[in-house]
Amino acid sequence: MSYKIILVTAVILSTGAFFLFRSKAGKRPQDAATATVSCKKCGARIVVSNPAKLHQEFSVKCGACDTRKLYKLADLAR
Ligand SMILES: [Zn+2]
Repeated sequence: MSYKIILVTAVILSTGAFFLFRSKAGKRPQDAATATVSCKKCGARIVVSNPAKLHQEFSVKCGACDTRKLYKLADLAR
């Protein structure tokens, strides 16, 4: 009798771990085409999307200090 309970518990635990693993694997984000620049005012990292489509100079707003500044492609750090 106790053997059956242990067996059922083991099955429930293993299926639970299986679903937990699957949901974690499914949530993994795809590598987006992004680059970062460091803010000229506060030094925070600003994420820039689609760096390949940028012009030689582009303006980006810092999310940390709310300052918009001009950056060059040379400022990008991947
Ligand atoms: Zn900033």
